[in-house]
Amino acid sequence: MTVETVQIPVYRPFAVQVARLVRLSPTFLRVTFTGADLDEFSTNGYDQRIKVMLPLPGRGIDDCPADPDWYGAWRAQPEDRRMPLRTYTIRALRPELREIDVDFVLHGATGPASAWAESAAPGDEVVLIGPNARFPGPTGGFEWHPPVDASCLLVAGDETAVPAICAIVESLPAGQRARVLLEVPEAGDALNVAAPDGVEVTWLPRATGAGAPAPRGALLTAAVADAVADLADDLAPSPAVALEDVDVDSGILWEVPTELTAPAGSSGVYAWLAGEAGVVKALRRHLVQTVGVDRRSVAFMGYWREGRTSD
Ligand SMILES: Cc1cc2nc3c(=O)[nH]c(=O)nc-3n(C[C@H](O)[C@H](O)[C@H](O)COP(=O)(O)OP(=O)(O)OC[C@H]3O[C@@H](n4cnc5c(N)ncnc54)[C@H](O)[C@@H]3O)c2cc1C
Repeated sequence: MTVETVQIPVYRPFAVQVARLVRLSPTFLRVTFTGADLDEFSTNGYDQRIKVMLPLPGRGIDDCPADPDWYGAWRAQPEDRRMPLRTYTIRALRPELREIDVDFVLHGATGPASAWAESAAPGDEVVLIGPNARFPGPTGGFEWHPPVDASCLLVAGDETAVPAICAIVESLPAGQRARVLLEVPEAGDALNVAAPDGVEVTWLPRATGAGAPAPRGALLTAAVADAVADLADDLAPSPAVALEDVDVDSGILWEVPTELTAPAGSSGVYAWLAGEAGVVKALRRHLVQTVGVDRRSVAFMGYWREGRTSD
């Protein structure tokens, strides 16, 4: 008797259509996707990441590789025919309605994802690469791993991290101490987020109407430094570690503690920081080198790099 092993991918392509669009603010567009294929889509919540495969002229969802090794098949395509992939966050999944919300930052027609979102209309088709409910093990794809006894949480990021941060905030138990810092382009981008008691949310708009907008990252960097100073008593003592340089123009800044690497029984601060890679790099230097925060209790994630496409 031969036993056939069926390969079930952890993440797989899902064909979806735009159900509706809601302009949440000057910068954020909520795109709600739907499709029968979503019956097998799953999420762990928090900062669960997905990929959006964007159509090219003459190429759309039927051209997405259906292979279990969809990624290998995608990479094997000639570069000029390969549909661009970009990383986004599941803001909400409503399986009973077969709906997913993804909040897009509109930063102009400078990249395929933002350009697609700017002109998206109900009925438009894309492919989402997301967690496969049929996969028998953990699907991963998220970095929110606070120790159960963290005395305080520090969650900070720019507009690209707002969807992840809002989902994380809404998952926190009442009474959990947390400082949440969100740098956004303008005051109108402060979104409604259902923050439980104990969670202090601060929006940091770069443009306030008075004078020139603050440089990208300046408000976030200052606010994180202030928060870390306030939380000095809660910070886990740091073992001496050499901080190696990360070239954010040629590589990815992604340094994350996992359930396995986070200090056991840590009762101090757990921090999750995401946004423009140069800004996150400066925060990493400040926290780890200047202040001496235990890097095993901080997730540092460069979500994008100014002046560089995510290809
Ligand atoms: C885990 C993860 C989750 C993410 N979740 C979200 C999300 O939910 N919503 C979201 O909007 N983004 C999110 N991002 C960021 C998103 O992937 C990038 O912004 C991506 O570059 C957008 O692709 P694009 O095709 O629009 O631009 P690209 O083709 O990648 O870049 C084109 C140009 O636009 C610039 N650029 C890219 N993004 C921005 C921006 N936000 N503001 C100003 N200039 C920009 C680039 O520097 C480049 O010069 C996430 C990234 C990661 C890694």
